[in-house]
Amino acid sequence: MEAIPLVHASLGERELAAVSEVFASGWPAGQGPVGKRLEAQLASLYRVSDAVAVANCGAALHLALLALGVTPGDEVIVADYTFPAPAQAVRYLDAVPVFADVLPGTGTIDPQSVEDLVTERTVGVIAVDTVGLPADYTALQAIADRHGLFLVEDAACAVGATYQGAPAGALAQVGCLSFHGRKGATSGEGGALLAADAKIGADARRRSSFGIGSIFDMGTVVGLPIPTFTEVGFNFKLSDIAAAILTVQLDRIGELLERRNAVAAAYGELLAGQELLTLPQVPPDRTHAWQSYMVTLDPGVDRAAVAARLRARGIGCGHGTWATHLQPVFAARQHCPVSADLFARNLAVPMHAELTAAQVERVAEELISAVHAHAGGAVHALGGATAVGAR
Ligand SMILES: *Cc1c(COP(=O)(O)O)cnc(C)c1O
Repeated sequence: MEAIPLVHASLGERELAAVSEVFASGWPAGQGPVGKRLEAQLASLYRVSDAVAVANCGAALHLALLALGVTPGDEVIVADYTFPAPAQAVRYLDAVPVFADVLPGTGTIDPQSVEDLVTERTVGVIAVDTVGLPADYTALQAIADRHGLFLVEDAACAVGATYQGAPAGALAQVGCLSFHGRKGATSGEGGALLAADAKIGADARRRSSFGIGSIFDMGTVVGLPIPTFTEVGFNFKLSDIAAAILTVQLDRIGELLERRNAVAAAYGELLAGQELLTLPQVPPDRTHAWQSYMVTLDPGVDRAAVAARLRARGIGCGHGTWATHLQPVFAARQHCPVSADLFARNLAVPMHAELTAAQVERVAEELISAVHAHAGGAVHALGGATAVGAR
C-alpha cells in the first residue's frame, strides 16, 4: 500500500544548483549578495518599499511588532484560528494578545469580532491568511483606520494567494511570510517581512542583525568604519544558502501553485455532495494558496477514528490548525466558539505540489469510506463497502 504524505516540499536540481553557487562564492551567511538579490526580488514581486529576509515568520512577526512600537501591556487583537505564532509574537513583547473569533465559512478573522474587541489599550491587529486564504482586508483596514490601529498580515501560508487582485503578503502595512518546509515556497526554514513604509523595513533589518548593518557590506567598503552598537538586536538573519533556494522557489511559484490548485479542484469534484463533509470555501474576490486542504467533518463523525484509519492506510492527515485561545500558554478567559468548533472538526488531508491524480483519487475514496465508517449510528445504512471498512 503506497504511502501518501500530508506534505512534501518540492525542492530539486535547480535549488541545488543555486546552493552550489553560494558555496563557491565563499559567503554562506546572511545579508550577503544572494540575500540582497532575494530581498530585491521580493520587493519587486510584491511592489512594496522594502522586503527583509529573515530566519522564519516568527521572527518577522516579532520584528514587525517592535518596528510598530508595541510596548508591554499594549493589547494586540489576533486571529484565533491559526498556528499560534501571532499571539506568541505579542507575548515576546509582554503585550497582551486578544483573540478574535473567525468566520465559519473561511476560518479567517471576523472583522465584526475585531471591532467588538477594540479598547483604549488596543494598538493593532494581526490578521492571518488562514492556511493560505486571505482574510477580509478591506473591512479590516477600515476598522484599523477608524481606531488608529496598525494592521499586520500574517501571510505565512499564503505565498501566491491574492485578494481583490493584490498579492497576499502586501495586503496590509506590514506582511509576514514563512518559507518553512510545510509552506508553498520553502528553504526549509525561512521568512520575510514586507513593508509598505521603508522606515519599518530598515528598522526590522537593523534589529535582525544585532542592531548593526550587514557584515558583508562592511567588508566591501574602503577604509575601516567600525559600527557602533546602540541598541539590543537579534540574530534573525536568513542565510544566503537559504536565500539562494528561495530565489528559485519564488521563480517557480506559479508552477507550484498551479499544481496545488489542480489538487484542490480534484478534491472539490471527488468530495462534492458528501453530506458528512464541508469543503473549503473560497470567496470570489480572492484566491487560495492551498498551504493545507482542510475539510470540516460533520459533528457526528469521530475525527480521531477517521484519522487513525487514514494513517493506518498510509494516508497522511492532521487536525489542521489551532484555536489559539485554547492553548494553555495564553490562559485566555475569552471564548471564540467558531474557532473552537473548527479546531474540533477540521481535518487536513494530503496537499502538496507532488500529488498525482491517482493519489488524490485514492485519498478521496479513503476519506469518504472513513467518515462513513465512523459517523455513528445515523448513517450506517450507507452501503456494503462502507460497512466492510468499519472496524
Ligand atoms: C507556519 C506559520 C507561522 C510560523 O512560520 P515559521 O516560519 O515557522 O516561523 C506563522 N504564522 C502562521 C499563520 C503559520 O501558519
